[in-house]
Amino acid sequence: MSGLLQDYVTAQAERRADAVALVMGERRLTYGELERLSNQLAHLLVEAGCRPGDRVCLCTEKSPQAIVGMLAALKARCTYVPIDVASPTARIARIVRSADPAVVLTMGAAMSLVGELLASEVLAPGLPVGALERFPGEGPGFPVAFDAADWDSQPGERAPRTGDPQEIAHLLFTSGSTGDPKGVAIIHANVRAFVEWAVEYFGTEPGDRISGHPPLHFDLSTFDIYATFSAGATLFPVPPSTLLPGQLGEFISSNQLTQWFSVPSTMTYMAKFGAVPERGFPSLKRVLWCGEVLPTAILIDWMKRIAQASFTNLYGPTEATIASSFYTVEEIPRDETAPIPIGTACAGEELLVLDGECNPVPPGEIGELYIAGAGISPGYWRDERRTSEAFRPDPRPGRGEQRIYRTGDLARFDRDGLAYFLGRTDSQIKSRGYRIELGEIEAALNARPEIVECAVVGVESAGFEGTSICCAFRPASEADSNPAALRSALAALLPTYMLPSHWRSLEALPKNVNGKIDRRRLREMFSAEQSQA
Ligand code: AMP
Repeated sequence: MSGLLQDYVTAQAERRADAVALVMGERRLTYGELERLSNQLAHLLVEAGCRPGDRVCLCTEKSPQAIVGMLAALKARCTYVPIDVASPTARIARIVRSADPAVVLTMGAAMSLVGELLASEVLAPGLPVGALERFPGEGPGFPVAFDAADWDSQPGERAPRTGDPQEIAHLLFTSGSTGDPKGVAIIHANVRAFVEWAVEYFGTEPGDRISGHPPLHFDLSTFDIYATFSAGATLFPVPPSTLLPGQLGEFISSNQLTQWFSVPSTMTYMAKFGAVPERGFPSLKRVLWCGEVLPTAILIDWMKRIAQASFTNLYGPTEATIASSFYTVEEIPRDETAPIPIGTACAGEELLVLDGECNPVPPGEIGELYIAGAGISPGYWRDERRTSEAFRPDPRPGRGEQRIYRTGDLARFDRDGLAYFLGRTDSQIKSRGYRIELGEIEAALNARPEIVECAVVGVESAGFEGTSICCAFRPASEADSNPAALRSALAALLPTYMLPSHWRSLEALPKNVNGKIDRRRLREMFSAEQSQA
């Protein structure tokens, strides 16, 4: 074993080639098929000119082929970059330019997006595009270097290349405060460290039937995928069209899932719309969540209804790979206002609560949360400045080259050593489970001529979105004060989940004594409006 992510699949294919690795709708792939197809596609990538370390952009919706594409990129010793194809083209273009791919893999509806990127030369003319499906009839309107019909011409027994666990496996782009999404580089060893802890802690085994709910550009999806393959279990990617709470509940029941893992907003949405049946989901052994606070009242609801399952809170940022700490809730909480701890560090990780001088704060006191350990990313893709701001040398004596990651989260330890999440130090929020820098929305708005000044704030809401995005703005003229027009202009620049849901046109934005926009007053204003609504 060489410690690479794709080794999980190779090992299963050698032992249990006929076991089912993934099921999505009518499509199912055994470990043997997954191994063969990803080897074949890897050979095509090498033939198309991919060199070790090159990026392969995956411009496709979640699909079995996309997962074959990921494995193939790794087997060509490349870095894959899953693209959120539901984002506006302008934002995708910034991500693709930054990733600077050697090959693009695409299929289905995302083909037209690739056509646009080629036409506007965001993708260099002549850059090879590989299709993950066959073209029996009409082509996509641009030359395709290979399609799925070519796969069989390639050897399926072996990958063309191997690699090193310290090499970058994937780039995951997250919202950036200055307007440009930032690419978090994740090496094989980062993911393997978490997967190995998780498979042992949760006792994942071949009979497990595991949900794949988050989109592939979210780091949580890498847990579903690689923990499944590591254990030889079966992955059930949730189709992007399975959106409604009832459909999600039906997905769990009909596929007899044993593990459900999603962001809390999805669990809240399901609970609020009655999609968690009393004594339902009898096959479920584990419910896991990560990415934001799960309201305790919602957890109580789930725990009462799905009594046989265990419930675990996972905490961690993309930069520290999937999750760095965990807390399994042993009993149904009695107090719905008591927060659930983010718990203790997973094996190989460390949580540090530090003050402004990077000294540890005593239990009970609030400080900034830093993470050290095996999950820490080497940094942001081609961005030394942001990397050195967020990833710092470990200040403790005897730690050598070790780095710590500054999460921007506030936390405290209690006397039992359990950590609690207490909010953010900056203007990053989570809305519907998506990580959003409010600065990215402001940067897009400030580029609009209709706006003189604006501020975007997050306000806790009673709805399932968790935090609602609210925009106060001063329009250039009376005619520019129409939020609907601004919203549709913004929709060309930002994904739907980043669009403010509440708007307020003001003659002037409130300022504090330093002359800065008074965001606290704006939050109070929107919060009062929402509680009256
Ligand atoms: P992401 O990179 O999308 O995973 O977002 C990371 C951020 O999400 C963290 O820095 C926290 O602010 C928040 N977060 C992640 N997990 C949790 C959790 N279990 N509870 C509260 N906040 C969380």
